[in-house]
Amino acid sequence: MARPRIVIVGAGFGGLSAAHCLAGIDAEVTVIDRRNYHLFQPLLYQVATAGLSPAQIASPIRAILRRAANERVVLGRVTAVDKERRVVTVEDREVPYDYLIIATGARHSYFGHDDWEHVAPGLKKIDDATFIRRRILTAFENAEQALDAEARQRFLTFVVIGAGPTGVEMAGAIAELAHVALRHDFRTINPRDARIVLVEAGARVLAAFPPSLSEAALQSLQRLHVDVRLGKAVSQCDENGVTIGDQRLEAATIIWAAGVMASSAAKWLGVEPDRVGRVKVGQDLSLPGHPEIFVIGDTACTVDSNGQPLPGLAPVAKQQGIYVARLLQAKLKGTASPPPFRYRNYGTLATIGRRAAVADFGWIKIDGTLAWLLWGLVHISFLIGFRNQLVVMLDWLWSYLTFQSGARLITGTEPD
Ligand SMILES: Cc1cc2nc3c(=O)[nH]c(=O)nc-3n(C[C@H](O)[C@H](O)[C@H](O)COP(=O)(O)OP(=O)(O)OC[C@H]3O[C@@H](n4cnc5c(N)ncnc54)[C@H](O)[C@@H]3O)c2cc1C
Repeated sequence: MARPRIVIVGAGFGGLSAAHCLAGIDAEVTVIDRRNYHLFQPLLYQVATAGLSPAQIASPIRAILRRAANERVVLGRVTAVDKERRVVTVEDREVPYDYLIIATGARHSYFGHDDWEHVAPGLKKIDDATFIRRRILTAFENAEQALDAEARQRFLTFVVIGAGPTGVEMAGAIAELAHVALRHDFRTINPRDARIVLVEAGARVLAAFPPSLSEAALQSLQRLHVDVRLGKAVSQCDENGVTIGDQRLEAATIIWAAGVMASSAAKWLGVEPDRVGRVKVGQDLSLPGHPEIFVIGDTACTVDSNGQPLPGLAPVAKQQGIYVARLLQAKLKGTASPPPFRYRNYGTLATIGRRAAVADFGWIKIDGTLAWLLWGLVHISFLIGFRNQLVVMLDWLWSYLTFQSGARLITGTEPD
C-alpha cells in the first residue's frame, strides 16, 4: 500500500517543527517553501540595523532536514489548494496530499494605506532587512554631505511606526547605532544628533506586556534618547516625512512596524478569514469540515482557554506544529488522538538595547540586565544550527566589548 502523503506548506517556525516531529515516520512528507531557507525573524531587526549579517539568522531548509529520509523539500510558491481533489498548486505543478499542514505565516498590513509601503518599508524578509539597513546607513551618508542644516536634520530623523516588540527593538537599535557604533565615524555630522521617533497609536509601548514592563521599556527608550510619541496615529506618510496627529515631521527614513496580515491561506481554502486574514480552525487546529487540513502559526486564528486569540509568536507556531505532527502520528497508527491544543506560555521577552530588556514569565516579571541576558540566551538557543549560534554569540560579545557593529554595509546600490 502506498504510504500516506503529508504536505507541509511553509518552513517557518510552525512548519519546521511539524517536519522535525514527522521525521522517520512511515509517511512521505513534502515540505514546500517559496524560499530555500528558514528565517529566524526575531533577529531580523539586527540585520536591518547592521548588527548581524543575513546568513547568521537563516539556514537552508534542505540542510536542516537532510537526515529525514522520508522528507523532501520543494522550492516554490503555493498559489492554490484544491480541497476536493486534494492537491496543492505550486506555481505550474500540482502536489497531491492526504494530509495538509498550512504554515505560511503573515505579511505586513498598512491598514488600507498600501501606498505607504514604498516609503515606510516593513520588516518580514531578509530583503526587507537589507533594504532598511541601506536606508538607515545611506541617511547618515547623505547627512554628512548635506549642504544645509534643514536637509541634514531631515536625513538624521528616523521614524519607527508601531511600538510593539519589533518597533521597540528597531528604535532601540537605531539609537544605539547612532549613539555608540557610529559616533566616531563622521567628520561633518555628529551621529548622536540623530533623532529617533517612535510613534504608537495606543497608550503604551509593548501593549502585550504588563503595564509595569511597558513603563520600564519606555524609560529604557528614553535613556537612549528615543522620542516616544504615544496615543498618536500617523495620518500621512511620504518620501519627506510623516504627519503624526496634526503635526508634520520631516524624516528621510520611515520604518513600518505597526501591523500584520495573515498569508493568503484563507483565500486558497475558500473560507471567511478573521479580521487580520487568519483561518479560523477547530481545537485540533483542523479546518472545520476538513479533518485532513490543518492551519497553524500566524496564519491560524486559535484561542486560549479564556477565549482570547493567541498572539503571533514563534512559540505558538512551534507548539502547534508539534501538536499537529503528534495528532497525525496518532491517526496513522490508529491510536487515540491527543487532547485539544493548549498553548503553554513559558514567557515573552523584548530587548531595548544594550543591557536593557523586559521579560514576562507570568509568575515573575523582570527588566534590565538580567532580562537582557535571558533574552540573549533564549535567542541563541532557538537559532537553528550550531555555527549560527556560535557566530552570533561571538558577534554580540565583540560588539559588546568594542561598541562596534560589524555589518555596516550599504548593498544593492552600486551602478554596473
Ligand atoms: C521582525 C519580526 C520580529 C519578531 N520577533 C519575535 C520575537 O521576538 N518573539 C517571537 O516569539 N516572535 C517574534 N516574531 C513573530 C514570529 O516570527 C512569528 O510568530 C513566527 O515566525 C510564525 O511562524 P509561522 O510558522 O506561522 O510563519 P513563518 O515563520 O513566518 O514562516 C512562514 C513560511 O511560509 C513560507 N511561505 C509563505 N507563503 C508561502 C507560499 N505562498 N508558498 C510557499 N511558502 C510560503 C515563508 O517563506 C516562510 O518560510 C517576529 C516577527 C517579525 C516579522
